[in-house]
Amino acid sequence: MRQQIAAANWKMNLTLEQGEKLLDEILGKMGNLAANRQAVFAVPFPYLAMARQKTGVRAQVSVAAQNCSNKKSGAYTGEVSVDMLNSLQVSYVVLGHSERREYFQESNQLLAEKLDICLAGNLKPIFCCGESLLIREANTQNEFVGRQLEESLFHLTAEQLQQVVIAYEPIWAIGTGKTASSEQAQEMHAFIRARLAQQYGAGLANEISILYGGSVKASNAAELFGQPDVDGGLVGGASLIADEFTAIIKALR
Ligand code: PEP
Repeated sequence: MRQQIAAANWKMNLTLEQGEKLLDEILGKMGNLAANRQAVFAVPFPYLAMARQKTGVRAQVSVAAQNCSNKKSGAYTGEVSVDMLNSLQVSYVVLGHSERREYFQESNQLLAEKLDICLAGNLKPIFCCGESLLIREANTQNEFVGRQLEESLFHLTAEQLQQVVIAYEPIWAIGTGKTASSEQAQEMHAFIRARLAQQYGAGLANEISILYGGSVKASNAAELFGQPDVDGGLVGGASLIADEFTAIIKALR
């Protein structure tokens, strides 16, 4: 049975003290999760050790980095390697968020390299994909997202793909308060799963968690997560509010 995941993306927000308080509050309120559910906290690099320490050995709770280098080690000032993340027992890495694609020119090819280095180090990628408003208005979102999958993911073996979580995040819905309707989300998630099935077979495609991201809130999470191919959410703004994110975790199927 595939995992249902609520992943918080704190982005470049909060001081250490604020992050500690937020995490304490959510961990205190969320209760224990069933075996098919997970809460993941993608926190800024300087807070990874704190988050690991607070989440400890709690079942079904993991910590993620928001990015990593495509290089193994060496003279790359300011970069953070997979080995460094492993030494902190981080479980996941968010890759290809639209903000990284847009502001740091991350291409599908660079992301393919990052996927390879993460998987070689047993770090699970949360691979983000999704189209801009212009592409949605031209109704070419399937071709666009299909290409993102082909160019970054489809060189992976079936065994490697099994470790990947996909997050569909339409750019026009990120941080805008404009959520894709549950029908729009389901339609794209079904398309992504169908492409995975074509490439890797239906059995494997059925095992991959596909999260929706884009203005997920406590008030819309249950409807989005109720769609058959939506396996939870990657949440920005609402993950910074303890009651909101706790309710989103509780809305997982
Ligand atoms: C995100 O950061 O991935 C995101 C979806 O942000 P928000 O929930 O604020 O739209």
